Amino acid sequence: MPFAGSCYLIKHAQGWMLWDTGLADSVAAMPEGLRPSDPRAITWRLPKTLAAQIDELGLKPSNIKYVAVSHSHPDHIGNVDMFRNSMLMVQKAEYDSPGGSSLRSRPNATVTTIEGDRDVFGDGSVIIISTPGHTGGHQSLLVKLPRTGAVLLSGDAVHFKENWDNRRVPSINFNAEQTAASMQRLANIMASDKAQLWINHDKAQRDGQKLSPAFYE
Ligand SMILES: [Zn+2]
Repeated sequence: MPFAGSCYLIKHAQGWMLWDTGLADSVAAMPEGLRPSDPRAITWRLPKTLAAQIDELGLKPSNIKYVAVSHSHPDHIGNVDMFRNSMLMVQKAEYDSPGGSSLRSRPNATVTTIEGDRDVFGDGSVIIISTPGHTGGHQSLLVKLPRTGAVLLSGDAVHFKENWDNRRVPSINFNAEQTAASMQRLANIMASDKAQLWINHDKAQRDGQKLSPAFYE
């Protein structure tokens, strides 16, 4: 099945914040995509680089103040090294895990390791929500937009709408019980904050959304 993968750039009076960095931009130069030898595995393709999309907005990676990643899988941290001047925000459990090694090995990187939730700008508009289960230190993001309202960016707390509707836990996940609890936590936030859930890998949902340089207010 085809699936999508998105990064989200957030404009705040205190600075720009990037949520997830996607697949490595180097994949865009591979005509066949990145094809693992196991034919059952995912073939990755990148039609447009993150660098080109940031450039299209008249920005440079050095303009991005915060980079937060949902978790340390390669389709979410692929371009993290592009943002050497940014503060990386990641759960401590993720950073310290075996999967976090590529985040730990970045020379001179500034990192904030988080335990639990974090109000990024201190005004309640952008809140990191701890949602472990897919990985040990997975996190999601609640963004409260002035016109659009509250949007929950799932990360991989859930991969597809069908999984969400049926509360399915992928067999690859780090912890099934934590995953179920995190899905319930997201459902509770959707109810209390009237939030939409944007499911990162759900292509059908993504195909109906505005993409950069278009934006949500
Ligand atoms: Zn993913």
